[in-house]
Amino acid sequence: MEPFPYAPAPESPAIVDIRPSYGLFVGGEFVDGRGTSFKTVNPATEEVLAEIAEASPADVDRAVQAARTAYDAVWSRMPGSERAKYLFRIARIIAERSRELAVLESIDNGKPIRESRDVDVPIAAAHFFYYAGWADKLEHSGFGSTPLGVAAQVIPWNFPLLMLAWKIAPALACGNTVVLKPAETTPLTALLFAEICQQADLPPGVVNILTGAGSTGQAMVTHPGIDKVAFTGSTEVGKAIARAVAGTDKRVTLELGGKAANIVFDDAPIDQAVEGIVDGIFFNQGHVCCAGSRLLVQESVYDDVLERLKRRMSTLRLGDPLDKNTDVGAINSSEQLLRIRALAEVGDAEGADRWSAPCDLPTSGFWFPPTLFTGVTQAHRIAREEIFGPVLSVLTFRTPAEAVEKANNTPYGLSAGVWSDKGSRILWMADRLKAGVVWSNTFNKFDPTSPFGGYKESGYGREGGRHGLEGYLR
Ligand code: NAD
Repeated sequence: MEPFPYAPAPESPAIVDIRPSYGLFVGGEFVDGRGTSFKTVNPATEEVLAEIAEASPADVDRAVQAARTAYDAVWSRMPGSERAKYLFRIARIIAERSRELAVLESIDNGKPIRESRDVDVPIAAAHFFYYAGWADKLEHSGFGSTPLGVAAQVIPWNFPLLMLAWKIAPALACGNTVVLKPAETTPLTALLFAEICQQADLPPGVVNILTGAGSTGQAMVTHPGIDKVAFTGSTEVGKAIARAVAGTDKRVTLELGGKAANIVFDDAPIDQAVEGIVDGIFFNQGHVCCAGSRLLVQESVYDDVLERLKRRMSTLRLGDPLDKNTDVGAINSSEQLLRIRALAEVGDAEGADRWSAPCDLPTSGFWFPPTLFTGVTQAHRIAREEIFGPVLSVLTFRTPAEAVEKANNTPYGLSAGVWSDKGSRILWMADRLKAGVVWSNTFNKFDPTSPFGGYKESGYGREGGRHGLEGYLR
């Protein structure tokens, strides 16, 4: 029983103006698509939000031509100091319209407003600010200063605006033009970003936004007029893209899946570690490529960590994404919910013990309670496969060497976390963990100045920081 009745604190959706239907953004204006259309829904309510154009191969051709024209005639010739002004302007408009962007992101994606407001949107603006600073200093990047040409950029649904910023900001700073496709379940903030490009007076064709599903993405990455492919999404689709562009002179960067180990030593500050574990796997409902989905706890503190973790999980508030008190929002789509349920059932069948935080799931929309599995072995599928939902697998270890061996026993290599009081141990672990990012005594921290990317089946190429320029220069 709660000591007092719960008072919701919802953000008003009135600030956003969702149109009944949207076209494609090509050559600086919204145009009708030549293909069919699909609906985008609010995953917390299943309400249809808008009808979205599905770009056909002919639309892809149009957009690539618009990007080529803008590249040849304007953008690649413009001094970096001038390009920087547009990036700064876009960054400022994102900041000015941050409330609108955050509300729209939460409505279309299902993530809590606390996260879209405090994480996604500010970091998206920060990326444009950061790369604006590089635009006139490319000769100091160490990667040359000549742009590649037209980039096809395909992004997933888990951080729609943020992934857009990670892709578009460095591409534009380096003098490339882009054709970007948001994921089919989360097109709305990319379409609002198209309006922001208009508001910033960005020359027509420098940014083109095409909506659609996998076939639109495929038509983009295989189009002969594309010089660079930048993809973030599943390892399966990443491999298909690598095969599709093999033998061409297209440059490719792939940001794919992950199965990160979050490693807690017995000398760690346990309460802070528990916060980090919760942030590592329940942030964004676990729809995070670098989520700390495998918890490795040193045996001597296992009981203590589990007890405190369950207590903390029981306080997580699941519900309306627009409520400012919500910690865990909706699962992004019915398909993703089915995938999470199916893999969790495999965990049951494999003999692991499931525990879910007690919470009432809303009756409409797509929801999954914060869940953990104990009694997990390295061979279990829940310990090997990306679940991309609010589900944590807990394993134990005795020595640092065993922790390293278990953490690296995965086909992925995107991120890892180490919790310990000893700096020397953290450095020893970081040297041995095969992961693109290792956080120490924190988790899921993103900064535009810091490169992000994977090893092994988590992909290749880096986004963010000076290294993020490499994928867009020759
Ligand atoms: P997904 O691979 O199904 O889709 C990603 C995008 O690719 C979507 O826009 C989709 O329409 C498009 N697409 C699908 N088939 C295509 C094809 N054949 N050719 C071209 N484009 C195609 O992934 P998802 O379910 O949207 O996203 C979740 C995945 O993304 C997870 O595996 C997650 O780990 C990964 N991810 C990785 C990072 C990273 O930085 N490494 C960041 C976020 C998400």
